[in-house]
Amino acid sequence: MVDVTAVRDAVAEARARIEAAQARGGHGQPVTLVAVTKTHGPEAVEAAWAAGVADVGENRVQEALAKQPLVQAPVRWHLIGHLQRNKARQAVGFACIHSLDSLRLADALHEAAQREQRTVDVLVQVNVSGEASKGGVPPGELPALAEALHARPALRVRGVMTMAPFGADERTLRAVFGGARGAAAGLRAAGHPADHLSMGMSGDYELAVEEGATHVRLGSVLFGSRT
Ligand SMILES: *Cc1c(COP(=O)(O)O)cnc(C)c1O
Repeated sequence: MVDVTAVRDAVAEARARIEAAQARGGHGQPVTLVAVTKTHGPEAVEAAWAAGVADVGENRVQEALAKQPLVQAPVRWHLIGHLQRNKARQAVGFACIHSLDSLRLADALHEAAQREQRTVDVLVQVNVSGEASKGGVPPGELPALAEALHARPALRVRGVMTMAPFGADERTLRAVFGGARGAAAGLRAAGHPADHLSMGMSGDYELAVEEGATHVRLGSVLFGSRT
């Protein structure tokens, strides 16, 4: 069950920590808190909205689509998990897709977006750490992808998403987050409006904000553990 008061308190605490981290980091960026509601029911989305959170993240298209009709609050839905090409058509309605990880997926999304005559905001998921278990594009492949994406105008490349290794030390986390910041700068240099930097989860969001995150994706600190 979702405790609305507990969620409100947790959001207030996270916002205070984010604000302090913004000041420490000195990048001057705005930060959007994305409440990750995966595995929780529609009441988690309503609780987040009641706490002043307008952005929610889901990692599975199917789960999100099942939840959306049950939610009254006019939140923006972000898709943060790996997306299969055969689900591209169902994904183009999301406010932002954080997990663009291949040109083949870009093609599927572009075709689906064109068919619906809409533009989709996407973030390129970058695998900065090189961990085999993490999805994402290796930084070395970004320039070619950035170039190819210019030919897919129904996709608006808004920035970069990354996931840091779980439980890594501060030095590693800063290197990963700094690498993602560099990747977003590379996309901007290549002519994309890449002003979004989605990084930081419950265990590492303060460091991520210090390193310039514009979007933090928080699940367990807001709603408790999912297990
Ligand atoms: C589940 C998930 C999160 C949130 O994780 P917490 O540690 O619970 O904050 C963030 N990003 C992605 C991609 C996720 O799948």
